[in-house]
Amino acid sequence: MELNIACIPGDGIGPEIINEAKKVLDAVAIKYGHKISYNTILLGGASIDAYGEPLTEDTIEKAKSADAVLMGSIGGDANTSPWYQLPPAKRPEAGLLGIRKALNLFANLRPAVLYTELEDACPLKKEIIKDGFDIMIMRELTGGLYFGERSTTTDHGVRKAVDTLTYDEIEIKRIAIKAFEIAQKRNKLVTSVDKANVLDSSRLWRTVVNEVAKEYPEVKCEHMLVDNCAMQLVRNPGQFDVVLTENMFGDILSDEASMVTGSIGMLASASLNETKFGLYEPSHGSAPDIAGMDIANPIATILSASMMLKYTFDLDKEADEIEKAVKLALKDGYRTKDIMSEGNQLVGCSEMGTILAGYIK
Ligand code: NAD
Repeated sequence: MELNIACIPGDGIGPEIINEAKKVLDAVAIKYGHKISYNTILLGGASIDAYGEPLTEDTIEKAKSADAVLMGSIGGDANTSPWYQLPPAKRPEAGLLGIRKALNLFANLRPAVLYTELEDACPLKKEIIKDGFDIMIMRELTGGLYFGERSTTTDHGVRKAVDTLTYDEIEIKRIAIKAFEIAQKRNKLVTSVDKANVLDSSRLWRTVVNEVAKEYPEVKCEHMLVDNCAMQLVRNPGQFDVVLTENMFGDILSDEASMVTGSIGMLASASLNETKFGLYEPSHGSAPDIAGMDIANPIATILSASMMLKYTFDLDKEADEIEKAVKLALKDGYRTKDIMSEGNQLVGCSEMGTILAGYIK
């Protein structure tokens, strides 16, 4: 298969972790006979330095003409980087928001996986963790409270602020379809999270999710109120497979789920549109404090590349091979500094990439 990937190394540790992801992807391509072409494009601080803008038309065009985008991370140290002397619309993060919008990415996927080898980093008790957990939080990205009409007024000297939470059935249906498709590739359970006991938007959400669920009889569909879900994530995280929810609930629950894994350098993410296209990136930022030191953990980016193989290219076997390599490396005791613990072997960013690629050969 030919894989046409736009690569955004970005800023800080971005170029280092992207190099390692390419190393691993290349090992997969050799083993399985695929041909990968990488088109490197600039975004964020790197684009400001080159063109004076965090996002150019050229970057948008090249991203659109690729099958998928693989990104490192964007941004610098807000206290020291000259990028943050610029007006907000010209700063690195504006480039990221701009490209997400230009690519119409409405579904955000954030896996929260606890590897048993890293359970010491998990703040939950052992009897709660049991055999680890593997949750996919699926958050709607372009609707809801963050995009509804808002206003702040003063009426008879009393200040008042209003935000509105709006969803239409088309927005709900398209992300529900994605959630059920993704659940088919996993453990076939969708837990749709809402506040249907109070909110009209949640009642519509639940109705539309149930309609979509009928098309996927092999996937079990459950509903959970958001307050209960927040509790269940720390009480029994192993019960979840795909958690489907609207924008603000997803914003909060995805951070909660990632915190219970305890390892920021291990967390992948993807943002998808209606086609097979997606932008894949680690959940963490550009870590300017450790940039250029060869100590960053590249695994979140490598697992994002694995998601790309699975969800854009339907190369499930190849994606599983990467996940297996990560588990083997952890089992064999290889650790970057952020996940290091006694009795294991400390490796750098580049060495971790080489080790993972080595398991795939
Ligand atoms: P951060 O995630 O970059 O770093 C937080 C802490 O985690 C730091 O101590 C860092 O060294 C560590 N860390 C992060 N990734 C790591 C890795 N792979 N290996 C080892 N340690 C790692 O968050 P921050 O410091 O709040 O933000 C830094 C910059 O990143 C800012 O400019 C911010 O805007 C940007 N940012 C970008 C994205 C993105 O590109 N999607 C996301 C979040 C933050």
